[in-house]
Amino acid sequence: MAHEGSLDDFSLSTLALHSDDYCDSFQDEAPPLRLSTSFKYSRNSAELVPIPDRSTNDPDDYYYSRISAPTTRRFETALSAILKAHAVTYASGLAAFHAALILLNPRRVSIGKDAYFGCQGVIDIVSRQSNIEKIALDCPAEGLHPGDLIMLETPLSPSGLALNIAAYAQKAHARGAFLLVSSTLAPPGLQDPFALGADLVMHSGSKYIGGHSDTMSGILATQNQLWANQLRKDRSILGNTLSGFDSWLGLRSIRTLDVRLQRQSESTQRIVVWLNSGVQGTADASAIIVRAVASIGHTSMQTRDMHWLEQQMPNGYGALFSLTMKSVQLARRLPSELRLFKHRTSFGGIESSVEWRRMSDVNVDERLLRFSIGLENWQDLKKDLLAGMTSLVESGDQSLVEAK
Ligand SMILES: *Cc1c(COP(=O)(O)O)cnc(C)c1O
Repeated sequence: MAHEGSLDDFSLSTLALHSDDYCDSFQDEAPPLRLSTSFKYSRNSAELVPIPDRSTNDPDDYYYSRISAPTTRRFETALSAILKAHAVTYASGLAAFHAALILLNPRRVSIGKDAYFGCQGVIDIVSRQSNIEKIALDCPAEGLHPGDLIMLETPLSPSGLALNIAAYAQKAHARGAFLLVSSTLAPPGLQDPFALGADLVMHSGSKYIGGHSDTMSGILATQNQLWANQLRKDRSILGNTLSGFDSWLGLRSIRTLDVRLQRQSESTQRIVVWLNSGVQGTADASAIIVRAVASIGHTSMQTRDMHWLEQQMPNGYGALFSLTMKSVQLARRLPSELRLFKHRTSFGGIESSVEWRRMSDVNVDERLLRFSIGLENWQDLKKDLLAGMTSLVESGDQSLVEAK
């Protein structure tokens, strides 16, 4: 039999394929889909250990799936390996954020106005029962007290703006506060917030980790074993558990996470460079692009911050970018002109998408389009974008020109 030695030396792509090899004793190569809600006790009555002596916190002792279940456990084993921390899964990203607030019970949460609207909403709901207070992300350090929480989302959607994790970790820890990093736009392979001082890392698994637009999940990871135990215990009572089916889809997804993200990030960078040279007037297609696009938002454009950003995201800047168009009408109409980019909300799938952000965000510039790059050939995506812009710009329709 092969040795079961430590996996610590393996890299992300290997861990994503093999860290859960020993979770099931079946001979199946692919993980079995185990959906049972309830698990049989031993038929040997001498082996029965009644509650309360039976540990309700042993994740490998299966008896009811709200508490723990094999496919979810297996997904968490693989996630723990790739996140280099104890990973606990939830029914959605927002359920994970709620669980973090229940765990830490902070008096204050320092959070940016441009962090995901749903996370703001979770804090608002929790504030009905507690006196939790939202304070600005850039509050003076003296505004933070022991046990408070900095919730740092980086990079941000739709701007792609990245924030300095190490600097916020220092700010939090100097005051006895904690740092939670929402790293949804930069999954393992692109960013490791623990290496920069994060206490908790959150992902919406509904995005890149799921990657196939067919599964929803949330993940909290921590290197603190006591916190992980408490999160599991809380989850077993609150019932915000991830289903077996979504855990199975999640396992299917993370097998390819590294290669997907490398390619998606690379293609995005190529398209952003092309669009930017268009805006600057140096691309073949500049005549069209300068008439359509006012500005581009992507982490790679944040050149003044490269002294820390290159270290924070050494392998690429992610697959999401935004375009501010020259007019509201251009932003509203471009998605319908595209063939490969599907007009929809959300992002992170292997299929490219675009959203006129005004469809789901009341506060956003009405000229903003958010793009998510998938696994199509990047030159095909470029052709599609150029064809869409060309048909609008050359239509002669005056409503596409911004009224001054
Ligand atoms: C999607 C998303 C969430 C919420 O995740 P769900 O899985 O939809 O609950 C939170 N934060 C960010 C940055 C997201 O993109």
